[in-house]
Amino acid sequence: MPRKLYIETYGCQMNVADSQLIAGELEALEFELTESPAEADVVLVNTCAIRENAETRVWGRLAQLAEHKRHRPGQTLGVVGCMAQHLRDHIQTKAPYVDLVVGPDAYRRLGDILLTERDAPYVDVAFNRSEVYEGLDPRSDNGLTAFVTVERGCDKFCTFCIVPYVRGRERSVPLDEVLRGTRVLVEQGVREVTLLGQTVNAWRQDDLHFGDLLRAVATIDGLERIRFTSPHPAEFTPAIIDALASTPKVMPAVHLPLQSASDSVLERMNRGHTYAAYQALVADLRAAIPDLCLTTDLLVGFVGETEDDFAQTMAAVDELRFDAAFMFAYSARSGTRAHDWDDDVPQAEKLRRLELLIARQEAISAEVNAARHGAREEVLVEGPAKRGDGWWGRSRGFKNTVFSTDRTPTLGELVWVEVDNSTAHTLLGREVAVVDAALV
Ligand code: SF4
Repeated sequence: MPRKLYIETYGCQMNVADSQLIAGELEALEFELTESPAEADVVLVNTCAIRENAETRVWGRLAQLAEHKRHRPGQTLGVVGCMAQHLRDHIQTKAPYVDLVVGPDAYRRLGDILLTERDAPYVDVAFNRSEVYEGLDPRSDNGLTAFVTVERGCDKFCTFCIVPYVRGRERSVPLDEVLRGTRVLVEQGVREVTLLGQTVNAWRQDDLHFGDLLRAVATIDGLERIRFTSPHPAEFTPAIIDALASTPKVMPAVHLPLQSASDSVLERMNRGHTYAAYQALVADLRAAIPDLCLTTDLLVGFVGETEDDFAQTMAAVDELRFDAAFMFAYSARSGTRAHDWDDDVPQAEKLRRLELLIARQEAISAEVNAARHGAREEVLVEGPAKRGDGWWGRSRGFKNTVFSTDRTPTLGELVWVEVDNSTAHTLLGREVAVVDAALV
């Protein structure tokens, strides 16, 4: 009888893609996915270490999941991913009921690990600088869109970030492997792929760069849309911008983390660029891609951030008018360089700045979306709307779009939606036509 596998995923898209990879690897070994941890033989929690509250949630969840082991002796409870790497020793003391701890470079061994009888907990957090999981197929949860990891690890060492320490050094997935994995997905009906990497535009192979990768993926018949996340500002080149602008399948949406608009904060963060360089890059991107949707990450209250530094970030939000932003208050992460520095912005002040920033960005997001009223958006239909009787999909700019229609659209269909209303996070409208592929 197949053994039942339950996977719970926390954190970023890289973790979602890794969970899919693990599921595929274990299904090939006759594990069968289940939605219920209570009936699973193996429970894996794929964890995130980026923020402390992500780890706190996992500790609580592990204690809950451990309850199932009492009713199901022999059940294996494993922690995989970034927190496994970050807190490997701590997990065994704080959660002794965890049976295995496996870091992001050891997933290929998971099958062997799970199929081997053990009397003691098993830990495998060795880094492997060449592991890019070649030969393991990416998967799609909805059959229409999918992640394809093209680059793993990070060499940037931003002083607030744990990623380089838990995911290891940067390495690119070979072009042929990216194409193979994407073709597998398209043969299964996937129409849109998102190429993933911690600094995805740092992808390289000999003299090929990320723009070449985008162009090559775009040659795959049947694939309609290509997205990518997250690029690093310092890794954009004119050649990559040209590839974005001249490859119609590449969607006009760029998530470009800024973090702060103060040069002194950017320097302390070791971001590798100034605000002026970021401004110039945005100007170049917008000149090359006129309908660009630009989103960002912003971090307030970093070590030494003054009121004036924060005012510069507020001014940048007004100036650059992002479509949307992920905004956070800084919290020190053990294992990072900034952890040893004086975390000198009081928590209440961090939260005050964050509130101001969120309020301003939400107002801008609402204005930017309102400016699209009357426009036609090409939407990939992904399912019924969560509320009401409309349908839901993403625009080319990756905006949530909810629309009404007189018919039942096919999932995966591209339709034109005329926008007549919006919120800060969603475009609302009605279907006016099925997209003629020749128009795209
Ligand atoms: S670029 Fe900086 S923030 Fe992004 S993953 Fe690398 S170290 Fe972390």
